[in-house]
Amino acid sequence: MAYQNPISKTASSSSIESVRNEEHTNCFCGRRARLCTSWTLKNPGRRFFSCATPKESNGCHFFQWFEEEFCGRSLDVITHLNHRRIYLEKKLKLVEENLAKSIEKKIVLKAERKVLIEGRMKLEAEKKKLKKAVEVVFVC
Ligand SMILES: [Zn+2]
Repeated sequence: MAYQNPISKTASSSSIESVRNEEHTNCFCGRRARLCTSWTLKNPGRRFFSCATPKESNGCHFFQWFEEEFCGRSLDVITHLNHRRIYLEKKLKLVEENLAKSIEKKIVLKAERKVLIEGRMKLEAEKKKLKKAVEVVFVC
């Protein structure tokens, strides 16, 4: 079974796996069914066959479990890890949202800083002009 990082599985509840030739089965379309892994809370890590053609593209609704349900301690551990994954995904989402907000804030602050620097430069130029004007007044 190919290693799949469960943390990266945020959007869908299953992933595609490969299987040895002698273990494959055909779907109702008569084509080789695709082996997927369920990442639902009820059947975490349990593999199943489904049609290789997406339902949106007129694939059949073939479904067949590839292996028995996990039981006992294994299921407890997998379920615990799955809950932990969901918790970490939520936390990661919050961190990413905060990071995006910080980046937006930085852009706004940078723009404000630019305006302030330009204002300061104008004031310094004004100050120089006034200083020269005062010198002219003193000379006269
Ligand atoms: Zn099919």
